[in-house]
Formats: sequence, C-alpha cells, structure tokens
Amino acid sequence: MIVVFDTDKIKDYVFATNKLKEIVGASAILNYLNKNRIEKEVHDICGDGNFEKIYADGGGAAFKVPKNKGDKIIKAVKKLYLRETSGGAHITGIKYTGQSDSEYSFTEISEKIRREKESKKAETKINEGTISLVSLPYMHFCDSCGKGYATTVVKDPDGEDEWLCPVCFEKRNFFHNHKDIKPLDEVLKEYIDNLRNIPPSQNFDDIASGDGYIALIYADGNEIGKNMERIKSIDELKVFSRKMNEAMKEAVSQALSDIFNDKKNRFAKLPFKVLLLAGDDLVLSINADFAFPVAVKIAENFEKHFKDREDLSLSIGIVISHKNFPFKQSLNYATSLLSYTKKKRAEIKVVLKESIGSMVSFAALSAAIPSSPERYIREYLSMKKNNKSFQFTAQPYTIYQMQKLIEYVKRLKKNGFPRSKLSEVRKAVYSGGFSTVIDIYNIITKLDKGNRHVFERLIEGESLELERNLQSGKFPTYPHPWFVGESDIIFTHLLDVVDMYKFVQEE
Ligand SMILES: [Zn+2]
Repeated sequence: MIVVFDTDKIKDYVFATNKLKEIVGASAILNYLNKNRIEKEVHDICGDGNFEKIYADGGGAAFKVPKNKGDKIIKAVKKLYLRETSGGAHITGIKYTGQSDSEYSFTEISEKIRREKESKKAETKINEGTISLVSLPYMHFCDSCGKGYATTVVKDPDGEDEWLCPVCFEKRNFFHNHKDIKPLDEVLKEYIDNLRNIPPSQNFDDIASGDGYIALIYADGNEIGKNMERIKSIDELKVFSRKMNEAMKEAVSQALSDIFNDKKNRFAKLPFKVLLLAGDDLVLSINADFAFPVAVKIAENFEKHFKDREDLSLSIGIVISHKNFPFKQSLNYATSLLSYTKKKRAEIKVVLKESIGSMVSFAALSAAIPSSPERYIREYLSMKKNNKSFQFTAQPYTIYQMQKLIEYVKRLKKNGFPRSKLSEVRKAVYSGGFSTVIDIYNIITKLDKGNRHVFERLIEGESLELERNLQSGKFPTYPHPWFVGESDIIFTHLLDVVDMYKFVQEE
C-alpha cells in the first residue's frame, strides 16, 4: 500500500504575514516536515527496511508501507504537523492500494485527496460555527499575522516589543532552533561565485532596487497533471518526482548564477529571496532590475530538464511594485496573473495546435490596484473605436518573445532613446485605431537615425512573432503597431515595452 501526503493550503500558511522572516521560516518548516520529519515518523512505525520513500518535497510526500500501518502513519503525521506548526498548518493523508504492488494512478489518488480535503473543509465549517473568537480588553492580537492571539513578546531589531501568536513565533524562531538548516537562498548562493560572501537580505528593503522596486516572480508548471496521468507505476513516479524537484531548484539557482555572476560588488545584501519552492511551485522576491531576465532564464532552464516530456513548461506571473506596496496585494495579483497566463496559454494552444512552452505575464502596480488582469485589461487596456476592439497589451508572451522584447529595450537604452518619447508612445497607444498609427509615425520622424532604425523594427514587431495569434487564413487588416488576434481583437505590444523600459537594465 502507499500513503500519500499533501500539505493543505500551503500559501495561506506561508504568506499569513507580510514579514520576510516569518515567510521564509514558514517555508522552511514545511520543507523540513515534508522532507525529513514525515520519513522519521514512517520509520518509527514501520521499522528499518520495511518501507520505501517514493518522494518528499515542500508540498507533500509519499511512501510505500506495509498494509496494516497506513492509518497509524497518517494519524502520526497529522499530529506531527499540529505540534511543529502550533496548529498553523495541516496535512491531508490518504491510503492507496493498486491492483498490483507497483501500480500507481494519479487520477485515483488526486481524487481521493480532493475528497478528503472537501470533507475536512466541511468539518471545519461546522466547528467554526460553535467557536467564535472573542476579543477581550487584555488580549493582544499577533503583530505579525494580525489573526492569532499573541502569547509571546519578543524584541524586534529596533528593540521595540513585538507580540506574536504561537504560529508566528514558531516561524520566527525556526532557524534559531534548527541551526543545521539553512534558508534556501543561502543554499542557492553557494552556486553563485560572486555572491557567495554576500549576506542574505533581512527584509524587503534589502532586496529592492536602487529606486526601491521589488518584483515578485510566481511560477508554476504547465501540463503537470497531464504528464502525471501517464505514470502507471511507482518506479516511474519516483523518477518523475525526483526530476521535478531537481529541475525547479536547478532552474532557479542556474538562472540566478547566470544573471548575477558578472555583477561584482554591486550588492550589500543578496538581491533576492526564495519565498516558496515546493515541487513545481516557485515564489521568488527579487530586485526589480533583474526580474525579466531571471524569469526568462528560469523557464528556459526548467524546460531543458523535460525535453522528453510533452510540453512540460512554466507559466509565470511577475508583479513589480515599490517596496512599500502591501506585500499581500502584490502576491494576490501575481497569483491571478499566473492563472491569467495559464488560461490564455491554453487558448493560444488551441488556435496554434502546437506546443508553445513557457509563457510570462507582468504588471507594474502602483497605488490603484486592479482586482484581476481580465478586469484591468477590460477597463484600462481596451478601447472600442469604429466598431473595432483595440487592446493595449499582447500578454502573455512566450520565452522567445520576452527575450526579444528585452533585447529591444536594451538596444533603445543603448541608443539613449529619449525618456520624453516614452510617454508620447504611451499616449499614442491610448488614442487607439488610426490615431495611434499617425501619432507613432510622427514620433518616428523626430527620432535620430539609430533610434529610428530600432524603433521601426519594434513597431513592425520584427522577429517577435506576434502574428501567432492569427487564425489561419487571416491577415492583418490594420497597420502597425497593431496586430490582429483571435476574435478579431486588434492589439499592440508597444505599451508593454514602455512598461518594461524602467525595469530592464542596459548592463
Ligand atoms: Zn501570528
């Protein structure tokens, strides 16, 4: 029989606070529990040589165990979670017995897990109905998560009192209590020669770019379920899980190494922090000046590991905001950008009838925050003119397109493309239809020769393959910078380039 464990609502637990220390601590706790401690529980119950580890990563674990031990193990692991996270995180465990000893069925197992989680949810609802949080005058809410009752006072770096609930207290003290465990970015920096001696960031201020900007890169695997469904045996599952784990870790460390290796002495603290890395799930906080090239590299590296699998790739949402912008809002928006990317990618795949690999969407957030990318595009990046629909973004982009866009921005920067022209381009796009075409040509005529050459290539979309959205047999009915996409939407990539400009460095 196999027992399969899956951590519940990982993101709710890890991102319950917006303090970097607690986020990184929570992430490390889950890693430690799933990778080390569950195995110890299984070992204690089954004894030496009586069980087999199938996989164990930040999101869960699976073991082959004797038939009569399943229930006992599940009970012990649940207790372990409760104890080690002070009730902050929970895990679901199920038993599975296939026709043969080595059989594995992703569909059946995920359905079992889903049903188990559903019934737990229903149970919590009933319990919540009977207990309600009361707020008494002498009670303190936790300064970190704002939800739990504070039970401990600690001193913050400025010597001020900080009240913490037991869940946040565990997170805050995890590395202090486990001296042998290092945060992930410290493990990763060992791969990066020139960053090896740089101390890690302690807060979001340390990570931010010179003018105070931070990017949140949220990546998640495409077609994972589809590939998992093809796995029929435990041995195959073992190989696939190990590969998935290594792929993500290597993709991230190699990307950071490639981008930062020649940036000697530029940083007082590591300009990034891995906030979550569990299976194919990655949340990375990084100096905004490096977000685009790092995201592209991560996707590229990840795909290299799965050349033999069908279209196994990443969807990525990048949110750039000022370091003072509320972290939770950035994270929520990155989450919806990620699902937007996945949805659009699936649509484009249907039109193109071929695999397209990884795709990226991004947004630079300032004060006003849109509720979802769809709504933002509908309300702020769309226009109807002469019965035609215009859209001021071409997102999501493939990795190839992102690389080309980054190159264009670098070339414009190198030529000293006048900043004032950027806002003129923005204005031109917003005017829509033929007005955009006329305004853009007016801008071109005033550019010097070098800039004109690059800018003309850019508005024509040279080597950007923007026509990919075309349904077969259709040709653009609108002059550049417009392109005709599916459902006759007329779109442009120019505004995206203007938005990227500030955050791509010339080197
Ligand atoms: Zn708390």
